[in-house]
Amino acid sequence: AAKSAGKGCFRFFAPDMHEAARQRQLLESDLRVALEKGELWLAYQPCVDASSEDVIGFEALIRWNHPERGSVSPVEFIPLAEEIGLINEIGEWVLRTACAEATKWPKHITVAVNLSPIQFKSHALPTIVRMVLNDTGLDPKQLELEITEGVFLNNDDHVHDMIDGLKAIGVKLALDDFGTGYSSLSYLQRVPFDKIKIDRSFVSGAHDPESRNAALIRAMVGLASDLKMQTTAEGVETREELALIRSLGCSLVQGYLFGKPMPPEEAQELAAKGSAALPAQLPWREPRI
Ligand code: C2E
Ligand code: MG
Ligand code: MG
Ligand code: MG
Repeated sequence: AAKSAGKGCFRFFAPDMHEAARQRQLLESDLRVALEKGELWLAYQPCVDASSEDVIGFEALIRWNHPERGSVSPVEFIPLAEEIGLINEIGEWVLRTACAEATKWPKHITVAVNLSPIQFKSHALPTIVRMVLNDTGLDPKQLELEITEGVFLNNDDHVHDMIDGLKAIGVKLALDDFGTGYSSLSYLQRVPFDKIKIDRSFVSGAHDPESRNAALIRAMVGLASDLKMQTTAEGVETREELALIRSLGCSLVQGYLFGKPMPPEEAQELAAKGSAALPAQLPWREPRI
């Protein structure tokens, strides 16, 4: 009966799950060759000093221009790369490309690279970082590595050895997406982070008096400052959010308000200019009725 009902009936027997699995498999095989085909590239988002509005660095964010699907989000393909064992290769490419790009910027401007927890499983991570810095000639002080709480889920010595190895090179360490994981805070005792990045989920709408996010941000900034770490507020989109972030003592901001992730040429221009200052805000005037 299904056959006589024609093509449309096929869906009844092949649930969406199958289609999703098939799509995933296609994406998987495409990802395996994306690097060789030059479909991956890095966008750079400025990180700005909250008070001076000077650009202090950029975060490298990976992009995939798929020939048929267009732009595929890293939220989709990074987990895939992790699952299929491609993340080490992609991660090293990101590191190398970002470091090479940053050598074109003024010396005080940093580049931040996101690392997957999987990259910590190998013993080679510090060696790879050292090698990439050597090959590109980037000053270790100019490189910041962003890691997430996920790295500490298995609180083992190996992870801490890798972190010590990275610190010994002289690179900076940032804790990304702080407050969103399920990890305990105990790793903060052991890991000398230079910076904590407060996730966008706390920043969005934090200026709303109804929101409890301001209290959480204040606590995170206090904790970080006691531990001699800087704080970056992620995902600042409005002047209201910026004003609040400043008042809470957060020293750095990143977000669409100051700049979206941009192609390398634009980042280089902005790095040379050095300022992301917003146009002065017109004074508020009483509306005439
Ligand atoms: P992340 O490291 O927390 O990066 C911040 C994300 O927030 C980026 O999304 C960025 O484009 C976005 N964002 C920044 N400012 C704003 C804003 O004002 N509003 C909104 N709505 N979004 C903002 P993106 O580029 O899609 O990256 C998503 C995640 O993918 C990253 O989160 C990171 O976890 C991962 N990722 C990106 N590139 C890499 C990479 O090279 N390696 C690894 N392992 N992960 C990466
Ligand atoms: Mg990040
Ligand atoms: Mg982040
Ligand atoms: Mg985030």
